[in-house]
Amino acid sequence: MNKITIIGAGAAGIGMGVILKQLNYPDFQIIEQGEIGDSFQKWPNETRFITPSFTSNGFGMPDLNAVTIDTSPAYTFGMEHLSGRQYAHYLKLVAQAYQLPIIEHTTAKDILTVDDGYQVITNQGTITTKYLIMAVGQYHTPRLTPHPENVVHYSQVDSWESFSGHDQIIVGANESGIDAAINLAQLGDKVTVITDETGLDADEADPSIRLAPHTRHRFMNLLLDHADRVNLVRHQHLVDVIHNDHGYELLFEDGRRMKSKERPILCIGFSAGPVTLWPDLFRFDGHQMVLNEFDESTVASNIFVVGPDVRHQDAIFCYIYKFRQRFSVVMEEIAKREGLDISDLIEANQRNDFYLDDCGSCGVACRC
Ligand SMILES: Cc1cc2nc3c(=O)[nH]c(=O)nc-3n(C[C@H](O)[C@H](O)[C@H](O)COP(=O)(O)OP(=O)(O)OC[C@H]3O[C@@H](n4cnc5c(N)ncnc54)[C@H](O)[C@@H]3O)c2cc1C
Repeated sequence: MNKITIIGAGAAGIGMGVILKQLNYPDFQIIEQGEIGDSFQKWPNETRFITPSFTSNGFGMPDLNAVTIDTSPAYTFGMEHLSGRQYAHYLKLVAQAYQLPIIEHTTAKDILTVDDGYQVITNQGTITTKYLIMAVGQYHTPRLTPHPENVVHYSQVDSWESFSGHDQIIVGANESGIDAAINLAQLGDKVTVITDETGLDADEADPSIRLAPHTRHRFMNLLLDHADRVNLVRHQHLVDVIHNDHGYELLFEDGRRMKSKERPILCIGFSAGPVTLWPDLFRFDGHQMVLNEFDESTVASNIFVVGPDVRHQDAIFCYIYKFRQRFSVVMEEIAKREGLDISDLIEANQRNDFYLDDCGSCGVACRC
């Protein structure tokens, strides 16, 4: 029986695995359905990180995209805005450096409760474990419409080059929708972006709500050079896309309809991975998964969540520089239950801004 099983070897699973290795924790493993950094490997070719990387480590503020306090994607690649494939490579290097026990091509399917923990049924057999750490992310659970075959989701695009050459309709105008619009318009397409709300308009300072500076800057440059190629339509909420002899028809909440020859490109985000995959193991309040102060399920004890689905009050942990601060909080609680003293590690992580236990204090407010 394993003490700890981490499901998923993305940014969160690798970061959490490093903490366990730093503690010389003997009895854990990470299972991954694809390869390390699978989601990042599947990003469209042209997609780049929004958060810049910079080797600021050692001064209390590690590289924003690092998953450990002693690594830096900026150092590894000499770049600020990495591609998905580069970041997956960074995660592989971290996994190698820390000799993480990762079993690839192993998909967690069912999870059963047993006397002393859980049984994880995988395509490679059954794993019994006391603690489960869900690090499955969101990329594999895209938000779709009732007829998913009539749309293309951002996460299904390998490269924008293979899409260009047509008038395009993009639904959604936050990070992925604006990114899709920029890529397609730069390739010469005329793009209509339809959205119910957009981070372009948001007053909030938090980049989890407001469009990030990098994307905003790219979009403004696009409007300077090719304003005629982009049409932004606000306050329209898509409910379905149907297919008929003439192509595709988009249906909106207010009854409006719009026609398109091509399948519309859906950029409406992702659903929370753990609760989508295993709804019985979590409480969902209609907006988000409900977790306790240690990011543990309120329904199934000893099941913790790390990654972008963690939310507490106004704190949305959807960026790596945010959710990495919760790894040690989860570990501290498991250590307490196991009677282990990990205060040295906690202190080191606190010194490096890799520890955040007071979520009430992290609303983003900028005076100017
Ligand atoms: C286009 C785009 C741009 C982004 N840009 C940024 C950015 O600039 N900065 C930033 O901080 N964040 C960014 N993000 C968000 C960031 O990518 C995610 O927050 C991050 O990937 C979450 O890490 P994770 O480990 O939780 O999930 P993932 O990286 O998705 O890893 C989850 C892993 O779990 C595996 N898995 C899933 N289900 C199972 C299963 N049942 N069994 C076994 N394995 C499973 C998957 O294969 C995957 O490898 C971006 C996201 C997108 C989509």
